Amino acid sequence: MVRIELKEVTKEYRKVPVLQDVNLIIEEGDVYGIIGKSGSGKTTLLNLITGFLDPSEGSITYTTSTGEELDIEEHHSRIKKHLGFTPQHNSFYHKLTVKENLLHFGKLYGLQHDTLIANAKALLEITQLFDHRNKLAEHLAQGMQRRLDIACSLIHKPKVLILDEPTADLDPLLQQEILHLLQDVNQQGVTIVVASHHLDSVEDLCNKVAVIHNGRVHSHGLIDDVKKPFLREHFTINLRSGSNKELLIAALRKLPVEKIVDKGSQLVIYPLNQPQHIEKTVSSLLRFIKEENLYLHDMHFRKPTLHEVFEKIAQKPAL
Ligand code: ADP
Repeated sequence: MVRIELKEVTKEYRKVPVLQDVNLIIEEGDVYGIIGKSGSGKTTLLNLITGFLDPSEGSITYTTSTGEELDIEEHHSRIKKHLGFTPQHNSFYHKLTVKENLLHFGKLYGLQHDTLIANAKALLEITQLFDHRNKLAEHLAQGMQRRLDIACSLIHKPKVLILDEPTADLDPLLQQEILHLLQDVNQQGVTIVVASHHLDSVEDLCNKVAVIHNGRVHSHGLIDDVKKPFLREHFTINLRSGSNKELLIAALRKLPVEKIVDKGSQLVIYPLNQPQHIEKTVSSLLRFIKEENLYLHDMHFRKPTLHEVFEKIAQKPAL
C-alpha cells in the first residue's frame, strides 16, 4: 500500500523554524487536506512531501505499492515518478495547445510514445478538455486552465497527486467543477494531498485533514476525529403552537444544559459539552415531551463545520 510518512519533521528557513515536529501519515486512497492561515507553512509542507525541499530535521518516507520503504531525500529521482504536483500558479505553457502541453510534460517524464498518447487521451476525457485539445492554453477559460494544470500533473499516472490551492481565485461554480474532477481522480485510485483555504471545499472533498497552527500540526486525522474536541453539538426543537413552552423550558433547566435560546416556536438547546450530557438531555427531553403530551414538530442536530473548528483552533495563542 502506498503511504507517505513524516516523522518529527522540522523545517527552518535561515534558522527560523516554519514547521516543527510534524508527524503525519498519508495512506493510499486518502484525500488529505492541509489547512492553516496564510503563511502558516502549507506550501512548505507540500514541498517537503514532494521532495522539493529537504527537512531540517526528521524524515519523510514513501512506501511503494510493493511495500518498498524509501527515504524521499535519498531516493527523490525514483519517487518523483510516483508523485504529481499542481502548484498554486499555472505551470503549463501558454503558447502551447492543450495537447502539446500534455505531450510536453509526458516527455519530461520519459514516457514512451504509445503510453503518452493513451495517457493524454484518458486525461483529456476526464478533464473534459478533449474538445479543446487544439486550443492554445492561453485562450482557455480560467476553470479549463486549472483543469489543464491538473491534467499536466497526472500525465505520468502518479500514485499521489499533490495540489496547492487548486480552487484559489475560482468562483463557486468553478470550485465545484474542480472538486468533482478531484473526486473522479481519487476514484481512479490516486491518493490526493491538497492545501486549501476553502474549508468548505476541504470538508466536501477530504476524508482527512491536518490543521497547521503556530508552526505545528495542531490536529490531524479523520475530519470527524479532528472535530471531536469541538463537538459543542447543539440542537434545535420546533414546537407546535399551543405547546406549553414554559413547562418545557423549566424541565430543560433541570438537565445538564448550558444555554437555551428561545426563538418563539423554536428552542435552541446547548447541552454541556460532553457526549453523555448530550445523550442525557435528549433522552430526558423526549421522555418529558411524551409524558406531558407536548407536540414536537421536529428536532435538528448540528455538528460544527470544519470552518468553525478551524476558527476555534486559530484563536489559540502561540505557546
Ligand atoms: P502558506 O503556504 O501557508 O501560505 P508558506 O509555506 O508559503 O505558507 O510560508 C510559511 C512561512 O515561511 C512564511 O512566513 C513565509 O514567509 C516563509 N517562507 C516561505 N518560503 C520561504 C523561503 N524560501 N525563505 C524564507 N522564508 C520563507
